[in-house]
Amino acid sequence: MLNLNFHPSGQHFLQIPGPSPVPDRLLRALSYPTIDHRGPEFGALGRQVLGGIKAIFKTNSPVVIYGSSGTGAWEAALVNTLNAGDTVLMYETGHFATLWKEMAESLGLKPEFIGLSSYESWRHGVQAEMIAERLRADKAHDIKAVCVVHNETSTGVTSDIVAVRRAIDSVNHPALLFVDTISSLASADYRHDEWGVDVTVSGSQKGLMLPPGIGFNAISDRALAAHKKATLPRSYWDWTPILKANETGYWPYTPNTNLLYALSEALDMIAGEGLDNVFARHKRLGEACRVAVQAWGFEIQCLDPKVYSPVLTGVVMPEGVDADHVRKVIYQKFNLSLGAGLGKAKGKMFRIGHLGNCNELTLMAALSGCEMGLRIAGVPVNAKGARAAMDHLESSASQFGLSL
Ligand SMILES: *Cc1c(COP(=O)(O)O)cnc(C)c1O
Repeated sequence: MLNLNFHPSGQHFLQIPGPSPVPDRLLRALSYPTIDHRGPEFGALGRQVLGGIKAIFKTNSPVVIYGSSGTGAWEAALVNTLNAGDTVLMYETGHFATLWKEMAESLGLKPEFIGLSSYESWRHGVQAEMIAERLRADKAHDIKAVCVVHNETSTGVTSDIVAVRRAIDSVNHPALLFVDTISSLASADYRHDEWGVDVTVSGSQKGLMLPPGIGFNAISDRALAAHKKATLPRSYWDWTPILKANETGYWPYTPNTNLLYALSEALDMIAGEGLDNVFARHKRLGEACRVAVQAWGFEIQCLDPKVYSPVLTGVVMPEGVDADHVRKVIYQKFNLSLGAGLGKAKGKMFRIGHLGNCNELTLMAALSGCEMGLRIAGVPVNAKGARAAMDHLESSASQFGLSL
């Protein structure tokens, strides 16, 4: 039995950068009866989501849908395309880039982890010229893939994928390009085909607004060609039988039917709002959030305004303040969950998510909770952040609202 105290009155504010709040429409879709995954209705559902998801990745190539977390989709990208001992060039943007690198090591690959010196790398995006420089030196083409994270969820820093593609092309290097869009897909502009990405890795529980449990690989022709020759052990993740079954809308095993109902509904919601409007909303909320953080008098984790994340904002606490204590106070007082500092950022900062099913007032609730909680926790703060964010939203009011 669930402890009833688990559901206090009012609403829980899930303002972590994923999982993001699941809209009621999707929760209802999840509750539809599970059907025969070999029956005719299932094939129609499968074809619908496999086709529809391509618009979100902006690709005409196949997108594989796994019953997995994002981490599984990371593994799928690597084991489907690479061979034991292959060198992969990975760029340190933060905790998630670090975990992907550790996975590459455990799979028997040889990751080379480049970046700015130590913690600076956690406050800037990918420096594409460093990738060009390393690839230029690799005359023997030992490096088989370049891996970068589009939106580093541990820091709130995005990276310029076009610049990374250009860096690879500028030295005519044949390495494949793998991009983690687990937290950016359907929140920040992303173009698998146009940007020349070979495998795009993603997940369901962030911009797509679904519960956790779906991982994605969008696959280029070059990645498929590499797949044909790749020899790392793979079974569950193997693209070949999945792509074959997907041709008619099915899977080689039991897929997560109910999550696919919700995916179909999410695609409908996103199409209804319009992908560009979804991106604009995220950008606007990110701006308003940063206005508040700056008015509070805190640093933003991302030091380069060109690559501020539209998905989340990393809020750096003053020297001597334990960010985890602040988060705990805010959670206990206001039933508001914020993201913790991860890895090298632990205790130094917290993260405010503004992604997925969110709007101006959910952001204001989060900012108000933060502002009150910071004061209750005794953190020196200029308590004008929420007001500054409201001023900002008022002055940009022509850009949003219901069309009646
Ligand atoms: C959330 C996230 C992951 C991990 O995804 P899981 O679903 O937790 O396995 C990896 N990379 C990034 C950028 C993420 O935001």
